[in-house]
Amino acid sequence: FPVERIRNFSIIAHIDHGKSTLADRFLEITGAIAKTASNKQVLDKLQVERERGSTVKAQTASLFYQHDGQTYLLNLIDTPGHVDFSYEVSRSISACQGVLLIVDANQGIQAQTVANFYLAFEAQLTIIPVINKIDLKNADPERVEKQIEKVFDIPKDECIRISAKLGTNVDQVLQEVVKRIPHPTARVEDPFKALVFDSTFDHYRGVVANIALFGGHVSRGDKIVSAHLGKPYEVNELVSVGCTNLTFDLLHFDILALRYAGQVGYIGDTLYLQKQPVEPLPGFKPAKAMVFAGMYPMDQSEYTALRSAVEKLTLNDSNVTVQRDSSLALGAEWRLGFLGLLHMEVFNQHLEQEYNASVIVTALTVPYKAVLASVKLIKEHGEEVITIINPAQFPDKSQVVEYLEPMVMGTIIAPDDFTGKIMTLCQSRRAIQKNMFYIDDHRVMMKYIFPLNEIVVDFYDQLKSMSSGYASFDYEGAGYEAADLIKMDFLLNGRPVEELAIIVHKDSAYSAGKAICERLKESIPRQMFEIAVQAAIGSKIIARETIKAYRKNVLAKCYGGDITRKMKLLKKQAEGKKKLRRIGNIDVPKDAFINVLKRK
Ligand code: GDP
Ligand code: MG
Repeated sequence: FPVERIRNFSIIAHIDHGKSTLADRFLEITGAIAKTASNKQVLDKLQVERERGSTVKAQTASLFYQHDGQTYLLNLIDTPGHVDFSYEVSRSISACQGVLLIVDANQGIQAQTVANFYLAFEAQLTIIPVINKIDLKNADPERVEKQIEKVFDIPKDECIRISAKLGTNVDQVLQEVVKRIPHPTARVEDPFKALVFDSTFDHYRGVVANIALFGGHVSRGDKIVSAHLGKPYEVNELVSVGCTNLTFDLLHFDILALRYAGQVGYIGDTLYLQKQPVEPLPGFKPAKAMVFAGMYPMDQSEYTALRSAVEKLTLNDSNVTVQRDSSLALGAEWRLGFLGLLHMEVFNQHLEQEYNASVIVTALTVPYKAVLASVKLIKEHGEEVITIINPAQFPDKSQVVEYLEPMVMGTIIAPDDFTGKIMTLCQSRRAIQKNMFYIDDHRVMMKYIFPLNEIVVDFYDQLKSMSSGYASFDYEGAGYEAADLIKMDFLLNGRPVEELAIIVHKDSAYSAGKAICERLKESIPRQMFEIAVQAAIGSKIIARETIKAYRKNVLAKCYGGDITRKMKLLKKQAEGKKKLRRIGNIDVPKDAFINVLKRK
């Protein structure tokens, strides 16, 4: 396909502003899918995505589009909007020359609109602003255009007003994609060179990777080399995925597919032809994990099944980092790193739904650091500054010069009625305001520096509920700062529970300890004996709650009689037990370890 008639573009937006709906309309217009009422978020392939109605992984589609009597090939990448997945967005757009920046005509610019805009802007892509949902009663495209001009410095007349739902002006968007976005510069005459920008694991097809082609072409029978693995592979199979594609048989089940120069397709890392070696393309910086948690099987007999599920899932999601981490108390365990809480929840949901694995996830922690105090310790660790991703490995104060905690720059956009409340909330999270300005007559954009651990679990939920859903939030890494940190343990009947241990700032320790004890009391069911719930710093108890004894007898309800009813109740009780983790002789609900961290 002539490169002049290829357009690689991506749709970026704040969550729910209509990316997936617009992608569905594109697929319909170009005939890639038939027009039916059930075309909802066709690109959202993952079960969790359909359930949550939001996109988690970027997806690609190739569309043939007629313009001025010519056929154009439009390669579209749908991207996730949630803050946890901005890394996914930045990788996706690295394969594009332009983006459609979708903004809801009613909600206007939101925090992720700003974050996504800058990703595209820094990558020097053509940005086409699209104002969506003009069919809504409260739509105010005029105001949104003014915001776009003020915040992004894009002239109003460059905005396209559409309704993705009704299809209004959607064709015009595709025309503008052809007119405004430059074609890729890769040339078929150049040596074959391709960059992998994503990969997924497919139950049937094995490993599938997305690539951007930077030049050349490849044919059946060609030998290609993965620069990263340094291994040659032969192109030995042809399949059709979207448009014409080639498929490789990589390892025995790994399959790759790719497309012509300049296109975005499916494949595996930086690739070139064996007979025509090229300099590898600069890769991506690895995704930075923002939260870590231990994960281990509910029952050690499920260890092998869980290991295989974790391996497949991490292959599917390269943003998850994995470390083996055996603990005496917990048995075989992994320490997994995620981009954020949603990312972690999505991962867990995958594990449970697709692999039927029953897992315990420990309380999470952000990556803290410690500067070690003595030469001996530095020698022992092999470095002066260590990263702590597991509270069990938190070094004692006597061993460190100082502790460091990760910081983020947060952006909040909200109607100005909520400014006071938001400032109070931010202060309670140890945040420092850096900037504040009006993006229109009533909406304020605020910038704060937050300690990451203050926002990672429940900040967004609180912000949303206190602003009746109007405030939006996004953040990016902002380095490390010295902090007074301590490790806090939680004890059940005097026994420390490793999966509940956390690292906290000294100033928040008492309130956190008290609140977590209270929430543990709420979430642990009463048992046949009394349970003491305690928070401790070292050997000092700082908070306590008591769970009173309770004798549970489900069969008492049966009044003798009906045996099937009895069996049903017993079965139900057994199922309930499966969701409980036995610590000593105490049953703890398996999601308690995360839920107790959520402030109400
Ligand atoms: P995404 O998160 O950006 O992918 O957003 P979706 O495409 O999933 O859309 C979010 C919600 O907005 C869905 O309920 C859509 O039906 C709705 N929506 C999308 N476009 C329009 C539109 O043009 N008009 C109206 N009224 N609703 C829309
Ligand atoms: Mg979507």
